[in-house]
Amino acid sequence: METKNCKICESPSNNFEEDLRSGIFFFTCPQCGYYQITEEAFEDINLESITEDDKTLFSGHIRNNSNRENFLLLNTEMLLKIPEIVLSYKRLTVMEKVDSVLKYLGKEAVTLTDFVDIYLNDYARFFLFKPNSLVTIIDFLRKQKYIRIQDKTDHYTCKLTIEGWGKYEKLKEINVYSKKVFVAFGFNTDFAEGLFKTVQSACYECNEFNAVKSDPSQHDEKICDKIIADIKESRFIVADFTGQNQGVYYEAGYAMGLGIPVIRTCREDEVDNKKLHFDTRQYSHISWVNMVGLKKQLIAKIKRIV
Ligand SMILES: [Zn+2]
Repeated sequence: METKNCKICESPSNNFEEDLRSGIFFFTCPQCGYYQITEEAFEDINLESITEDDKTLFSGHIRNNSNRENFLLLNTEMLLKIPEIVLSYKRLTVMEKVDSVLKYLGKEAVTLTDFVDIYLNDYARFFLFKPNSLVTIIDFLRKQKYIRIQDKTDHYTCKLTIEGWGKYEKLKEINVYSKKVFVAFGFNTDFAEGLFKTVQSACYECNEFNAVKSDPSQHDEKICDKIIADIKESRFIVADFTGQNQGVYYEAGYAMGLGIPVIRTCREDEVDNKKLHFDTRQYSHISWVNMVGLKKQLIAKIKRIV
């Protein structure tokens, strides 16, 4: 079977597949995780001019923002923008990187006493440049009594202490380093797809935020676990109330309860007709007529809250 090195970190030990019909390559890389890339971007773009540090940060970007359900599709345009995309990660302070390791441990542990593996070669996930930095951080967290380490070979097996959970719970409240944005909207309208794409591109243009939505087939009036997890990890959420979808009310309410900012939108005619429920009407909405206007207003709003 054909193999190809990862386009970003050049690791040969990845899992490579290709869809000949669409010309899309699929990679599962030990450093970058799962992503898709167009054949054109893979073959034509030369990354030699990108520094090793920038490539490592971009690996971390993919690792944190792409998985099989919500994947990044790397194209020519995106590869050319790597230095811009990684800029925000360059601003991360040492303590922000320490916090990201702690948050990872808290997120991965299902129960209070779970141990979580951290592999030293997974340093890019935390926007570090070498395994040794990860060793230093783990050591610091241990000395601060935030974690307990069971054993170590090529990896650490760690669990949070009660002090560690306390710190984690404070950190996860606002998700300041997250690139994820959950989008809540009704699926049963003729504009649903256009709306999501509009929000997605507005999010991307503001700091490369990655907009995600729920799977319509699992969508009923209760919020399912996947949606809860996505909302919990979001930097903010965008909720469109056009059509008075009950799920959107739940999702926006849930995010608010967690202290996650909610950007509310609604088509103008429904705002004017006062269709919105009382509990939502008291908050300001972006009132939209078409997608061009919505995108413009969204970008302005996002820039104000982040
Ligand atoms: Zn890679």
